Amino acid sequence: MNWPKRHVDEVTTRVVGKMERFDQRDIPHTKAAIGSYGDKVQERWTSESVDPFRRIFYPEKRPRNSPIRSWVGVADGPLNPERVEVENPRRMSELIKEVALFLGAELVGICELDQTFVYTKKGLRIDFHKGRDGQEVKLPHRFAISCGQQMGYKHFRYSPSFIDNAEVGLGYLESGKVAVALAAYIRELGWPAKAHFHMAEEVMHVPIAVQAGLGELARNGSLISREFGPRMRLSTVTTDLPLAPDKPVDLGVQKLCAECDKCAVNCPAQAIPFGAKVVTNGIERWQVDNDKCMVYWTANRAKWNDCGRCIAVCPWNKPPTWWHRAASWVVPRSRLGRKLLLLLDDLMNGVKPKPAQEWLYYKVNTPEKVYELKVVR
Ligand code: SF4
Ligand code: SF4
Repeated sequence: MNWPKRHVDEVTTRVVGKMERFDQRDIPHTKAAIGSYGDKVQERWTSESVDPFRRIFYPEKRPRNSPIRSWVGVADGPLNPERVEVENPRRMSELIKEVALFLGAELVGICELDQTFVYTKKGLRIDFHKGRDGQEVKLPHRFAISCGQQMGYKHFRYSPSFIDNAEVGLGYLESGKVAVALAAYIRELGWPAKAHFHMAEEVMHVPIAVQAGLGELARNGSLISREFGPRMRLSTVTTDLPLAPDKPVDLGVQKLCAECDKCAVNCPAQAIPFGAKVVTNGIERWQVDNDKCMVYWTANRAKWNDCGRCIAVCPWNKPPTWWHRAASWVVPRSRLGRKLLLLLDDLMNGVKPKPAQEWLYYKVNTPEKVYELKVVR
C-alpha cells in the first residue's frame, strides 16, 4: 500500500561523523538476559511469562509452541543450481517487491547493504543459557530488502499491557514469515538470500528501512512511515540478487518531532529525550536511553512484557485512512499545519494513552487481580 512519498538523495538523520558497527551483545534484550541490569531484571526477563501470547510469540520452555523459533533454522538455505540471470535489475526489483507484498509485507523498499548496519558479533536473542553469543557476523551480501508490517491500531492504544504486547508478538511473527518466505523465493531463483527477523537477525532493521525509503527515524527511536507511523515491525532480507536501490524519503518527521515531544512526556521510564538532537555514533539524532527502557519493560511482569507507549501516543499512529493521508501530506509542507495537527491530536486522542480495556481474558485494569484466565469446561 506504499503511499506517494517525497524522495531525497540523503537520509534525513544526517551522518556527520564516522559510524562504528554495533555488537549485538550490547542490545538491551541481550543485556537483560545476561544480567547486565542486575539479578532482578535478569530473573524477570528470562522467567516464563504468565501470558500465553508471550509464550507462543517468544522462545520459552516449550520451543515447539513458539512457531517463530522454528523459522530460525530456515532463515538461510540451499540455492537452486539453475540460476535465473538478471538483465534488468529495476524490473527484478519490481518483481521482488510484488512478491514481498504477495507474501504479506505491507511496505517494501530496497537499498544497498551498508556494512555499518551489520552487527559485528551475534547477541543472545535465544539460547542465551547455552552461551551461543559472540560469534563473528559475516554477511557479504550486496543488497537489503526491507519489509514492514503494521501492528493493529485497536489493541496498540493500550500500552503498556498484555494487549498491545500481543500485537507486537504478532507483528514479529508476520514479519518473520515474510522474510523467511521471500529469502527462500530468491534462493529458488538461484541467488543467495538470508532472512533477518526477530530472533534471527544479523542486521539493524531501522537504519536499513530508512535507507530503503520506508520512513524516517523519529525522536522515539522508531521508524515512522507515512502509512502506519511508528506502529510497525520490520524484517530484512539480504541478498546478492541484482536489484535497483530505492531512495530515502523526507516525510517531515524531523520537523514534526522537533515541534512535538508527546512520546518523551508519556514515556514512563523517562528514556526519551526532550529538546534537540545530539550526535551519537556519527549520526545526528535523538538518542533514546535503551537501558532505562528495558528495565521498565521488566518492571511489572504481572501486567506487561514490554512497552510501546511511545508508539501508542505518537500523532503519526493512526489507521491508514484518507484523513491520515491528508494530514501526512500537510506535515512536511506547513509549520502552521503541523501546529494545528498536534493540537487536534491532543484534542481528539488525548494527551495521555488510553487506559487498558478488557480483551479476551486480560483484566489489566484490576489492580489486585491483574491476570486471570479461566477455562470453563
Ligand atoms: S510523539 Fe511526537 S516527538 Fe515523538 S516520535 Fe511521534 S511525532 Fe515525534
Ligand atoms: S517503549 Fe516505553 S519505556 Fe521504552 S522508550 Fe517507549 S515509552 Fe519509554
